[in-house]
Amino acid sequence: MQFDIVSIFPGMLRAPLAEGVVGRAIARGLIDVGIHDLRDFTTDRHRVVDDMPFGGGPGMVMKPEPFFAAVEFIRSHRGEPDAIVLTSPDGDRFAHRDAARLVTARRVVFLCGRYEGVDERVRTHLATEALSIGDYVLSGGEIAALALIDACVRLIPGVMGKEASGAEESFSEGLLEYPHFTRPAVFEGQPIPDILTGGDHAKVRAWRQAEAERLTRERRPDLWAAYQNRAKKPK
Ligand code: SAM
Repeated sequence: MQFDIVSIFPGMLRAPLAEGVVGRAIARGLIDVGIHDLRDFTTDRHRVVDDMPFGGGPGMVMKPEPFFAAVEFIRSHRGEPDAIVLTSPDGDRFAHRDAARLVTARRVVFLCGRYEGVDERVRTHLATEALSIGDYVLSGGEIAALALIDACVRLIPGVMGKEASGAEESFSEGLLEYPHFTRPAVFEGQPIPDILTGGDHAKVRAWRQAEAERLTRERRPDLWAAYQNRAKKPK
């Protein structure tokens, strides 16, 4: 799978992409990530990517032309993208189901805004969708694009150590994940649940399912309601 990121701060993206699960996936050739400096797609001497907003107001707006030129470059040098995602606080709220959907694509492009945001025509005439990583405003789309890519990469077959680990995690079945414990078995007077050391795998599985349901009910009533509704629907 191929990801391309368009940003004015390519240096912000390199280090996080070189480490951990994503870094290993790149090193093993399971994914390819292209980083494109938006300023390379300007045509003026000062490589300007922003301009004053029509109608006045504070801050600068990112110009449309460099984004269109960057995507055209990606199209001709990296192949036709299946999705062009504008990172935006007013986009659809990113969730597990979006990651699962995006990894069915072969090529996904992420566009990172800065300043007051991006000329609306990028959203309406270039991006195929806009995604937000939450109801808060970041200084730029780079951290959002990294979060989106990280969540997607974990779902690509072969990326995680064990094939099962991505599938068992929080949200994949509509529930939060069960709690984890490691040694020591007693820490500051707090013992781990006995069932985890009993050696009965069926009982451990049942306990984990019950705990996943309990935690979801207690911590995320919204997810719990959706999970129950799904369980009620005929398959
Ligand atoms: N003026 C905009 C507003 O009030 O909605 C905020 C612009 S923000 C400072 C600059 C860029 O950061 C955005 O164009 C977007 O690319 C990115 N960004 C900020 N918050 C984000 C979020 N929650 N999710 C995804 N991208 C975000």
